[in-house]
Amino acid sequence: MGMAEDREMLLSKLAGEGHLKSERIIEAFREVPREMFVQESDMLNAYGDYPLQIGGGQTISAPHMVATMTELLHPRKSDNVLEIGAGSGYQAGILSKLVGSVCSIEFDADLAVLARSNLEKSGCTNVNVFIGDGSKGYPQYAPYDKIIVTCAAPEIFQSWKDQLKEGGAILAPVGGFYHQDLTLLRKTKDGFVEKSHGGCVFVPLRQETV
Ligand code: SAH
Repeated sequence: MGMAEDREMLLSKLAGEGHLKSERIIEAFREVPREMFVQESDMLNAYGDYPLQIGGGQTISAPHMVATMTELLHPRKSDNVLEIGAGSGYQAGILSKLVGSVCSIEFDADLAVLARSNLEKSGCTNVNVFIGDGSKGYPQYAPYDKIIVTCAAPEIFQSWKDQLKEGGAILAPVGGFYHQDLTLLRKTKDGFVEKSHGGCVFVPLRQETV
């Protein structure tokens, strides 16, 4: 079976399981080839619903997790989005088809180079990948309509709250090493409103040590 058939099978599975809901998000999954974001030796596994190693001990998230997080973010064409943890660049690439611009921060310089190259190869042009510690956010492009964190965070940092627009939302796996809660924090005119969307497991957020 070819890549296109593999992809359609995965998309029907994700829709059937309720991970994918919106037609425009399904279309974004069609437009961004996951095989361009995995290691060459994993090409044939590109449309399996599991995470894969991308180098540096890091992973590209399982497709159902990318689907769930993308749906929870309610991406809009006018959104300016900040991602913490570019990794392979895949999640940023999916979002790039749904929003105005994506700014993605990556701690590991080699992965930042990989993400940039994967995004360029797959024709995702409205994404900027920067090397840095995303726990500080990225004030240069703030304020953001949405902030998506794709590494396990011990807490939702103040920097992220400060760089978020009113009416915007932060989506992050919050917790310890083995288990986190997928947490959505909305910034309303009356303050922050938090909702948990179930358990998940992400690689840990790393912070510069002083
Ligand atoms: N979104 C990625 C998956 C990310 S895996 C994808 O679609 O492929 C988590 C990534 O977070 C790793 O690449 C890791 O290096 C990065 N990371 C960890 N701590 C970070 C930090 N403080 N700032 C930015 N990136 C961080």
